[in-house]
Amino acid sequence: MTKAHEPGDLLIEGARQNNLKNISLRIPHNAVTAITGVSGSGKSSLAFDTLFAEGQWRYVESLGTYARMFLERVDRPDVDRLINIRPAIAIEQKNPVRTARSTVATATEVSDLLRLLFAKVGRPVCPDCREEARGYHPGAVADDLLTAYPDGRAMILFPIKDPGPGHDRALVESLLTRGFVRLRCGDEILDLHPGMAIPRTEPSALSVVLDRLVLRPDNRTRLTEAVETAFREGEDICRVVVVGQADRTYSTRFQCQRCGKTFDPIRPVLFSFNHPLGACPSCKGFGNILRYDEDLVVPDRQRSLMDGAIEPWTKPGTDWWQKQMLLAMKRRGVNLATPYARLSDEERALLWSGDAKFEGIRQFFDYLEQKRYKLHVRVFLSRYRSPSPCEACGGTRLRPEVRHVKIASRDIHQISDLTIQDAASWLDALALPEFDARVARDILRQLRSKLEFLLRVGLGYLTLARQTRTLSGGEAQRVALANQLGARLVGTLYVLDEPTIGLHARDTTTLAGILRDLAEAGNTVVVVEHDRQMILAA
Ligand SMILES: [Zn+2]
Ligand SMILES: [Zn+2]
Repeated sequence: MTKAHEPGDLLIEGARQNNLKNISLRIPHNAVTAITGVSGSGKSSLAFDTLFAEGQWRYVESLGTYARMFLERVDRPDVDRLINIRPAIAIEQKNPVRTARSTVATATEVSDLLRLLFAKVGRPVCPDCREEARGYHPGAVADDLLTAYPDGRAMILFPIKDPGPGHDRALVESLLTRGFVRLRCGDEILDLHPGMAIPRTEPSALSVVLDRLVLRPDNRTRLTEAVETAFREGEDICRVVVVGQADRTYSTRFQCQRCGKTFDPIRPVLFSFNHPLGACPSCKGFGNILRYDEDLVVPDRQRSLMDGAIEPWTKPGTDWWQKQMLLAMKRRGVNLATPYARLSDEERALLWSGDAKFEGIRQFFDYLEQKRYKLHVRVFLSRYRSPSPCEACGGTRLRPEVRHVKIASRDIHQISDLTIQDAASWLDALALPEFDARVARDILRQLRSKLEFLLRVGLGYLTLARQTRTLSGGEAQRVALANQLGARLVGTLYVLDEPTIGLHARDTTTLAGILRDLAEAGNTVVVVEHDRQMILAA
């Protein structure tokens, strides 16, 4: 607190919230202030329950009645006067996340940027040939032809469906009204005129001729236009005949140049497990599937069938299931007093799957599944299920097809499995073709800065795919801090709760630097702290 007192300082007078004893103090803006004291001295009461609560209260009050309906009610703290308070953001040592869907990447919007990046510059790679599938835009077709056949005599066409000999009159008429005057039929070129018959040599080999030209650079515009028309009229297919060469077919659709397999156009939603188009259909984007778990159904394997080894069948109302099972197993010569652990694999399989004569454990659960609409049934069933990784997507949550889309031979899962540190290195080493680099420049810049902030708060060791709910309170707090650094707010009051917990000395120094940067950018930073190093830094 080296700053001199200024008239605009944040003033607290007579704070009595919780156990506070009528405290008054002055906090400078645009600086880092540490509130210290032994545990129970009311640091948090002052920082969170008074400062932050008042900042929140005023913010909520400033909103209209309508907006207030959607916000949690905030109680005004017990304090005489609070002057010059700013809108407040609390960054606490708490991990509020419970859902399995949130990961470090989604919580920091890195995942949004990654899928934008893959959608913009990702290329499908044929899973069979491991070769990049290509899709052409008209300019690229022109360049390809000009390079491959300089001064070649070329004809640009697009294929049409042959409606059959009975429809020649209508077909010719429709082509003429659309302004097309030549048709290629097999190897023959026909000039179209009303009422003519088309002399077919083989079915389904009709193409409309758009232009004939010499492949010279000064014809590039004309060539590009013809290809553009072909793509538009020919449902994304353009044929090119070069005299003395094999025919060439170009498509805007991605296609393996070796085996011809086509790939869907790449769109951002394909890369989101929160979207039905992108989510793995098997696990619906959760990455794991709830299965009936043998360990939960048979919690004590030393028990015998007779002795209630099948736990759900010891519950009230399940007598019938238990009895028919005992009867069936006895008939098959199974000793009902044998502990479950010593039953043979076949005996256990029978127990689970049942047969024509009796109902097994699976049939029992299937039967109850039909009554899931009853709450107590859902609760009952949930006791015997546990999550296991989804096999369809390998726990990656995305539709298996998105793995065909790669950037520099890596797919989006492989990137998500990287640590923040490794992802940043991958990005730095990424050498995109010039066109792609231009298209992705903005995304790359944002992605780099997000990763940079996460590195600065000392989280480089976390993988992007790490579930947020498994983070410690301190890690969750630093993720939130990285997000705030990225938000670049000014005129905000940040209240932080012991941010140095679990940090090494070196990281503590870095963190102190980050907080100072936040303050210098025009924010008020209040830290509840007992770490000496941090207090000195403040
Ligand atoms: Zn292929
Ligand atoms: Zn899945």
